[in-house]
Amino acid sequence: MTNDFCMKSLARALVEKQPVYEPGRPIEDVARELGFDFHTIIKMASNENPLGPSPKALAAAREALGQAHLYPDGNGTRLKEKIAAKRGLRTEQLVLGNGSNEIIELLGHAFLRHGDEVVMGAPAFIVYKLVTLLFEAVPVEVPLVDHRHDLEAMAAQVTDKTRMVFLPSPNNPTGTANSEEEIFAFARALPSHVIFVFDEAYAEYLDSPPDLRPLIDEGRNVVCLRTFSKIYGLASLRIGYGYGSAEWAALVNRVRQPFNTNAISQAAAVAALDDDAFVGECRRRNREGGRQLEAGFASLGLESVPSEGNFLLVRVGDGVRFFQSVQAQGVIVRPLGGYGLPEYVRVSIGTKAENERFLQAAARALGS
Ligand SMILES: *Cc1c(COP(=O)(O)O)cnc(C)c1O
Repeated sequence: MTNDFCMKSLARALVEKQPVYEPGRPIEDVARELGFDFHTIIKMASNENPLGPSPKALAAAREALGQAHLYPDGNGTRLKEKIAAKRGLRTEQLVLGNGSNEIIELLGHAFLRHGDEVVMGAPAFIVYKLVTLLFEAVPVEVPLVDHRHDLEAMAAQVTDKTRMVFLPSPNNPTGTANSEEEIFAFARALPSHVIFVFDEAYAEYLDSPPDLRPLIDEGRNVVCLRTFSKIYGLASLRIGYGYGSAEWAALVNRVRQPFNTNAISQAAAVAALDDDAFVGECRRRNREGGRQLEAGFASLGLESVPSEGNFLLVRVGDGVRFFQSVQAQGVIVRPLGGYGLPEYVRVSIGTKAENERFLQAAARALGS
């Protein structure tokens, strides 16, 4: 083969510049690398639900597998009806996604042009920046203050070129949340050429999550994102949704693949929405686990950021070294150098036993 055939020269210029998302390390990789048994490793790196999937969702997914030869309902009618009833929305306001991450990308397809500005916090969920760059738009990053989104500073960065503003609350990776009052004031001050995207991935962990439906009903350009990956324990099935005005949903539904969400996930999500007992139990156990970890950190002399989510940001010194040390002991956490927090790691709250094991590994990591 001659080097006349060069794929790189055929790619769009942005492709090589595109940063690569670094996911939490899969258990299998780490097990193979360390020569450990798969079952001896615990993953506290991706904010997954340590209690597993909702049992009702699992049963529904198993049943749906029997129809795996049929294309899914591309409109996701049953799931949309369920979401609409549960959340007080109309089905026309909904867009289903292959995880809520896909909806972030669909927002790019529908709304971002070359040179548009997208305002976001730093550090915030990294996918906002990746999608912005993918569409040759410009990320405008506004530093968090005390690990919280500074809405006044974000508002000050809005210009004629701003097309979108992202706000996750609770935020990932910091776990901090903004109040409903300040979010409403921020949204109402945005000009009409800006779309406000409110990411509610961890909303179910809050006692009373902010409800942005009044902003949508007022006719503002507000879009909210939810996922089944976190409290519902369905991260592997890749299912989430967005809601906004019916006009917004109609636009975004035009730019998605016809079968972007599959029937197994749709069935599981419908059942998960009926499993209030599971969600309540997860929320309760998450609180307990959070307190357990905080107490453990305090006794190790570590400072952690108060979190409203299912994970904690903790300052350990050299984040990569700590990550490697606990990993060698079979516990996977997330180093945050990519988020500009090299002294921290993010730890997902596990079961009582997992938290205990992590704290023991942390003590050794710090002692060595
Ligand atoms: C986990 C997470 C999501 C959910 O992503 P999915 O694609 O639905 O799995 C979205 N936003 C934030 C901030 C998250 O942390």
